[in-house]
Amino acid sequence: MRSRQWLINGNPRGRAIELGDFAEASVELGALEPRRVRVRTDWLSFDPAQKAQLENVSGYASGNELGNVMVGRGVGTVVESRADQFPVGATVMGPLGWQEVADHAPAALTLLPDAESARAYLGVLGTTGLTAYFGLLDVGRPEPGDTVVVSGAAGAVGSIVGQIAKIAGARVIGIAGGAAKCEWLIEELGFDAAIDYKAERTKHRLRELCPGGVDVFFDNVGGSALNDVLACVATGARVVVCGGIARYNDARPTGPANYFNIVFRQATMQGFLLKGYEHRYPVAQARLRQWLEDGALLVREDIQRGFDNIPATLLRLFSGANIGKQLLRL
Ligand code: NAP
Repeated sequence: MRSRQWLINGNPRGRAIELGDFAEASVELGALEPRRVRVRTDWLSFDPAQKAQLENVSGYASGNELGNVMVGRGVGTVVESRADQFPVGATVMGPLGWQEVADHAPAALTLLPDAESARAYLGVLGTTGLTAYFGLLDVGRPEPGDTVVVSGAAGAVGSIVGQIAKIAGARVIGIAGGAAKCEWLIEELGFDAAIDYKAERTKHRLRELCPGGVDVFFDNVGGSALNDVLACVATGARVVVCGGIARYNDARPTGPANYFNIVFRQATMQGFLLKGYEHRYPVAQARLRQWLEDGALLVREDIQRGFDNIPATLLRLFSGANIGKQLLRL
């Protein structure tokens, strides 16, 4: 059996990812070894952190050398198995990588209940939804009546953060690129307001929309969004630093000039990583599932198709082409 793969072919540290950072290859899979599981990749998930993995950032995402298969989380179907717990036909999730079919160690795979709900485990019930849930509720700690601002608001994490903040009784303002994204946030997701940072002056709009200041800022972007919100934080504000995609391409990123407002407002700024929350996943997933069933939480997926489109799909996150969770169906 042959399998096509996308290999790491360049290191985009200090610059944007290019299609040439990936090279197509094809391998012949031999006989399946004992205690291995052969999986066909059905879905791939895309995350801005894959740029750091491509850059082989030590301590965070090391081990991805030039010539390796590009890493990526996915959902697939077991096509051959020499591990009893993964029967042929089972749906599994794991670091399947950018390849059509590959052999994996059982320890790397998670058995999913059914193929129908599998996609949700790459998004709202997986790291995307769990990041939104713990980052907002544990670090941001919104109270009813608080004003919560989220950047990257029409993306996978941001769109869930804003909706959980609404469930928590907050007033929610999203920052996103483009009128269509802002309209979706207000009309479909129930955000109270949205700022199109590509067309509006963010700090000016924040001052208009938040006369009492920003109580919680969930930041997926960094850069000018972070600086503008720091100028507007309320006393005792909580700033959750989840992501910084505006700086991921910079060789020498700079910090926010307005950071000293943290002192004047006795605010806190805390980084968030999902690592360490594993023991609380079941409770968070149960609550997220309940909100989905109740219609309190809406999920949008941006689905691209085909092996050939895998590299271009990662680039969509950096151009802002995606709305909601970026997935690809092989
Ligand atoms: P996403 O928001 O679905 O996609 C990325 C979005 O970022 C794009 O749609 C685009 O939206 C925006 N963007 C791209 N370049 C930008 C720039 N230069 N300036 C401002 N905005 C830009 O991605 P996601 O998977 O939900 O991840 C969101 C953030 O959370 C990322 O920074 C990611 O690294 C981080 N994250 C952190 C953790 C953690 O544990 N800390 C876990 C998961 C994700 P616009 O059209 O609005 O610009």
